Amino acid sequence: MIKRLCIIGVGLIGGSLARALREAGHVDEIVGSSRRAEHLQEAVDLGVIDRFDIDPARAVEGADMVFVSVPLGAMGQVFKSISNSLAPDAVVTDGGSAKASVVRDVSAAVGLTPDWFVPGHPIAGTERSGVAASFATLYKDRRVILTPLEQTKPEATGRVRAMWEAVGAQVNEMSVTHHDEVLAATSHLPHVLAFSLVESLARLAEQREIFEYAAGGFRDFTRIASSDPTMWRDICLANRDALLVMLDRFSVDMDALRTAVDARDDETLLRIFSEAKAVRDVFADPAGTTKD
Ligand code: NAP
Repeated sequence: MIKRLCIIGVGLIGGSLARALREAGHVDEIVGSSRRAEHLQEAVDLGVIDRFDIDPARAVEGADMVFVSVPLGAMGQVFKSISNSLAPDAVVTDGGSAKASVVRDVSAAVGLTPDWFVPGHPIAGTERSGVAASFATLYKDRRVILTPLEQTKPEATGRVRAMWEAVGAQVNEMSVTHHDEVLAATSHLPHVLAFSLVESLARLAEQREIFEYAAGGFRDFTRIASSDPTMWRDICLANRDALLVMLDRFSVDMDALRTAVDARDDETLLRIFSEAKAVRDVFADPAGTTKD
């Protein structure tokens, strides 16, 4: 049970955690903080937080749990502002989509990597932003990855785990490096591809009416290109090294596909598409319940 939760960055991710913890009866009081008072007032009006303070240092006072869910580029500045105002028993965790950069930023801001900090990442989200887009069931049956460090107090990790489990999430622990590699492959590369495809076709569309003929497949593939550009710029920069590995690997595979098309290599095309379909079918429906 959390007595006072402070959420810095009450948007989709922070707002959804607040709503879910409240619904689960796992928190007494929720205090919010971010840059703009009108966003925080909206969060109060929606019943997501109880009160707010625009000054993060004052907002964290007396909180036993602090969740930082600002864009990755703002993490360092937030940690710098709050580190001297935390209650002695406070545990701090975050929801940032890359982990090495957050750990680096926290160490630089605080002067060392503190034992009260538990890096985290909920593997849940939508392409929408802001507190109005938040909802209580976002984390139900979704995974949350925690990447505790050598110096992280096990009790701190335990309290963060309990918080996520209270909202129905399944918590896994892994190293910071492993997290960043896995997410570069499964989330960051697909987002970059979606943004890039839509931008590339948009330039073509300046000369032709192609979007008039875009149907379900295009919509499915490109939904995530409606995600917040600032957030994704930050993620690409924060997870640059792991993302570059994936982009290089994908470029090689794309070249191979191009070669097969150019050479009218029907066998290679069929093999690539069949392997992809088999993997995707299992991923989308692990129990095989929609198969005949
Ligand atoms: P969001 O809806 O845009 O919310 C971000 C919040 O941060 C807003 O409330 C914003 O409010 C506040 N903020 C921005 N800059 C700030 C600063 N310098 N200081 C204090 N507050 C600041 O974004 P989100 O989707 O919740 O993403 C938040 C974090 O979760 C990011 O680190 C992202 O990588 C991670 N994440 C996102 C997803 C996803 O699918 N969206 C999934 C998993 C993890 P103000 O404008 O009032 O400052």
